[in-house]
Amino acid sequence: MELHPAFVATALGLLGGMVGSFLNVVIYRVPAGLSIVRPGSSCPGCGEFIRWYDNVPILSFLFLGRRCRHCREPISWRYPLVEALVAGLMLLLYWRFGLSKELAVHFVFVAALVAVTFIDIDHRIIPNEISLPGVVVAFACSFLWPGFWRSSLIGLLVGGGGLLALSWTYSLIRGREGMGMGDVKLLALLGAWLGWQCLLFVMLFASIQGIVVSVVLALSGVELKPPLPEDWDEEDAPAPADPPAAKSETPEGEEGEEGEDGEEEPTPFLAAAIPFGPFLALAAIEYLFLGEWFYLWIRTGL
Ligand SMILES: [Zn+2]
Repeated sequence: MELHPAFVATALGLLGGMVGSFLNVVIYRVPAGLSIVRPGSSCPGCGEFIRWYDNVPILSFLFLGRRCRHCREPISWRYPLVEALVAGLMLLLYWRFGLSKELAVHFVFVAALVAVTFIDIDHRIIPNEISLPGVVVAFACSFLWPGFWRSSLIGLLVGGGGLLALSWTYSLIRGREGMGMGDVKLLALLGAWLGWQCLLFVMLFASIQGIVVSVVLALSGVELKPPLPEDWDEEDAPAPADPPAAKSETPEGEEGEEGEDGEEEPTPFLAAAIPFGPFLALAAIEYLFLGEWFYLWIRTGL
């Protein structure tokens, strides 16, 4: 039986929107250590449970006038945006791979990358709850393609190990953390999922786009928050008026102790607060569409 492509695309788009709706829950709950299964979604404003008919991707947002049915609290644009994004990515994958096992496998990881991206932007972390099972599932999926498990295993080791070495080198030279362990595990995941062949492309595209966005943000005067320390904990986060005891711990008076000359240390460019995870995720998704073309261009054009 031949399914009409328009029918398949509609069904896949709806499925993508529903997955996006679920990812909104993941993005909100996983960093907070909450269950993603229960309880059902509730309004952050009034706590009222959201009924299924108010939880239809994108449409509910529009029908309800962008507000909660009960307390009229505005609903964040983030929710329909993520739903539309995932639906759009699903359609792109269908266009690229057709109805195939490639579509199914790649969609799982693209969806995980969407969650990773927004969690990293919000919290500057890439949760182990996503990256570690991701590595295992990615390697397991490699057996769907004959012989691909070798590429996957090498990708896992080189991706994770290479970035780990880079991160160590950076902290040796600069004396501070350049990339987090979250990025290391994420690149191991990408290597296991796409094979070691993706790594050059991913690192190149992630770096270039990261630098471009950093420059654009710096030029447009957006304040970059410094990265959070490794042992940062949600519980001891809110400290707007830190007790003076904590200040004596800061080395060499970072907190304006030597503020007499009024010189404030500018945010070091490469250590700027832009999380790298979203750029790794973006580059991996681009690899699905541009990877073959890019390597062909390298072989023939150079
Ligand atoms: Zn409400």
